[in-house]
Amino acid sequence: MQSGNTKYVWELLKTVPDPEIPVISVVELGVIHDVVFSNNNYLITITPTYSGCPAVKTFMDDIKTCLTENDINNFELKIVYSPAWTTEWMTDATKEKLRKYGIAPPSNIVICPQCKSENTTLISEFGSTACKSFFKCDECLEPFEFFKCI
Ligand SMILES: [Zn+2]
Repeated sequence: MQSGNTKYVWELLKTVPDPEIPVISVVELGVIHDVVFSNNNYLITITPTYSGCPAVKTFMDDIKTCLTENDINNFELKIVYSPAWTTEWMTDATKEKLRKYGIAPPSNIVICPQCKSENTTLISEFGSTACKSFFKCDECLEPFEFFKCI
């Protein structure tokens, strides 16, 4: 191959789900920083969401599997910490997917994903993962997870 098809690699990456929130892809989550082709090699830079987030290793393995299954073997995954990932990299469409999945998207105001009430109470700083905290809605009484803002 003379020149790389980074667009194709991006398309493949869009099919790799976030291991914790399967309705959104790693691209939608915003952890794929860049895809560059040089010296016949794809360099994929990844910005982890939260340092020490156990999901990082999982999705890196998932990315490797996805690429090799699609006959792309000349790639390297590189973790970069700067610029640091922030929830601001999430698009509105991604936030809407989170809401439909039942997770309150990152926002200054915690809004119940079920009834959209702002009348919510923090139950625990940590939900199923360190990236989320646990809330209860005081209107519909449903517990839900909130994707923390960083
Ligand atoms: Zn509610």
